[in-house]
Amino acid sequence: NIKQQGRNGWAIYHDSMMQKAWESARFLQDLTQAMALNQFELWYQPKFNAQQLALSGFEALLRWRHPVKGVLLPEQFLELLEKSGQMVPVGRWVIDQVCRQLQVWAEQGRDDWTLSVNLSTAQFEQDDIFDLVSDALNRYRISPVRLTLELTESTALRNLARSIEILNDFARLGITVSIDDFGTGYSNLLTLKNLPARELKIDKRVVKEMRENGKNIKIVSAIIDIAHTMNMNVVAEGIETLEQKQLLTEMGCGQLQGYLLARPVPAQELPALLDNLPFRQPERGERHTRTRFQGK
Ligand code: C2E
Ligand code: MG
Ligand code: MG
Ligand code: MG
Repeated sequence: NIKQQGRNGWAIYHDSMMQKAWESARFLQDLTQAMALNQFELWYQPKFNAQQLALSGFEALLRWRHPVKGVLLPEQFLELLEKSGQMVPVGRWVIDQVCRQLQVWAEQGRDDWTLSVNLSTAQFEQDDIFDLVSDALNRYRISPVRLTLELTESTALRNLARSIEILNDFARLGITVSIDDFGTGYSNLLTLKNLPARELKIDKRVVKEMRENGKNIKIVSAIIDIAHTMNMNVVAEGIETLEQKQLLTEMGCGQLQGYLLARPVPAQELPALLDNLPFRQPERGERHTRTRFQGK
């Protein structure tokens, strides 16, 4: 108890409070400068077709290379980025960067590589989101079919009428719309059918809980079946064990993503990562460059 510790205890307590306040003010200041100092990076995590374990695309994931703390994950700064009103400008940079990377890959002969990017609610709700994305695609001369936009169901449901309109615009352009983190929060398969989304991503927590009881397995299996009925491809994220990989493949889940298969890495580390996958990649001829819904 602070009082019992007397004046000295209070001083220590007071100092540590001051220390914390100072540190979080400093952290916010660092974050405010991060864009200008080029400290944001995108790392890329491969996705694989479940049947053949053939590479089917990548997801771009934001990282902040802090000068003192090292490489930070979104959970360490995304909320602060939103609160401090910087999510939108950083999100613009992400879209530009993603299209730039698609162009770099095309120049390296990888014009079959596709990339998914996460959109925050604030970013999706910008009036100019469609122009922003289509301008970036034009600027780097990227075919829209190489781009997937991931947004969560809760983002899409905030203003359903508007979401349907904008997502239809994206879909008409040839961009793939993907519903991320499915199975967390407010999940409703029926509202999904109103959205022009071609992909459903099952959240990693749902994958993790799968083995806890047989009922969970049946639920995941039902989600996959219903998604297929709605002509959606299904991606399971957070695959960490062989058992999860096995179960989801047997259930007909089309694509898998997770540490078991490959971790997110900076672009320059991708060639080495792909050369050293713990499983064989199909030869070029037998490779499915783009996993499409294969019916059931
Ligand atoms: P998400 O879009 O659902 O991305 C999947 C997250 O799971 C990533 O975390 C990825 O690194 C992690 N992950 C992949 N495989 C595994 C696995 O086997 N096990 C576990 N435990 N985790 C795995 P990350 O990179 O920390 O990103 C977290 C979230 O931050 C993302 O979740 C996404 O919602 C958000 N985010 C990331 N990049 C961006 C961005 O550029 N813009 C926006 N708006 N949000 C982003
Ligand atoms: Mg995602
Ligand atoms: Mg997700
Ligand atoms: Mg998420």
